[in-house]
Amino acid sequence: MPEILTERPVIGVSACLYDCPVRYNGKRFDAVSHLGRERGDFRFMPVCPECMAGFGVPREPIHLTGPGPDVLDGTARVVTRRGRDVTAELVAGAQACVDALERAGVRVVILKEESPSCGLLKTKVGNHREKDVKASGVFGALLQRKRWFLVPDAAFDSPLKWWDWRRRMHAWLWLSDRSTATNGELADAWHVVKFIVQETQRTEADAIGRAVAALPRHAAAEELEALRSRMLDALRVPTTHERALSAMWKSYTYHRKRGTLEGVDVHELTVRSPEVRRNATMLAEELLTLERVSFENDLLFASSPVLYRERRRVRARDEALGKAADEEE
Ligand code: SF4
Repeated sequence: MPEILTERPVIGVSACLYDCPVRYNGKRFDAVSHLGRERGDFRFMPVCPECMAGFGVPREPIHLTGPGPDVLDGTARVVTRRGRDVTAELVAGAQACVDALERAGVRVVILKEESPSCGLLKTKVGNHREKDVKASGVFGALLQRKRWFLVPDAAFDSPLKWWDWRRRMHAWLWLSDRSTATNGELADAWHVVKFIVQETQRTEADAIGRAVAALPRHAAAEELEALRSRMLDALRVPTTHERALSAMWKSYTYHRKRGTLEGVDVHELTVRSPEVRRNATMLAEELLTLERVSFENDLLFASSPVLYRERRRVRARDEALGKAADEEE
């Protein structure tokens, strides 16, 4: 059965991706509109570190002399186009944003790539932002040190990419909040999320599985926590089109073989074998339908072992399945 999150996740987001006109030139993007109706499944907390640094809109663009982590370590600087050193201001602005996100209970943040502040995996460095480096900007680097779940805006490039980031994010949040204080609790938690890691990184999944099995009886709290952190790190790694396709097909054929799909209304389910060519959008639609069918019928959909559903929908589903709804409002 999928695990269900009933608390609506609060997501931090670079404000310029949330349609706020805060870029240095007053422009903005509306990346979150890609979510359509799903937008209501999240609460958003937009933040702009450059505004919090006191730079205002419009403002002189800034550049970094080295990647964001080096700025935090004091070996690189943040400079305006006219050469003014604004390192201390930007670090303070980024920290103010982290403080606000913490007050809002955020642990997931969507970041604008290639920005000297918000970049996550790619940042432009140098006087004319001429060098692309595979590193974070200043705010991105500060968030990396918090070890939260960070999402690049490229996650919105296709419905399939977003499907993958969202399901890993839900699993990550679920695992972060779950008690893993005993060997048994940790093994149970791994049993839920391992399906994703087996799909995205088979070797790491096998190594974690062996490490869980090899734990001494009554393992020390630090040992259990170290393994949980390793699982959380593994959930940060994205999948590929081919892997998602084969995982979907595996789940579907598993349920068909066991007969668990018998009696289930599958008229909308158009899952076809991996030989059938389909584009990313079609694949994402099939995966979402499979998720919904799994939720409504209490079937495990291994590629999305943790789902978010509103409490009232969980109650309605439980009533339809004849289960006692034992959750209080
Ligand atoms: S600092 Fe971040 S939120 Fe602000 S405009 Fe730049 S990329 Fe957007």
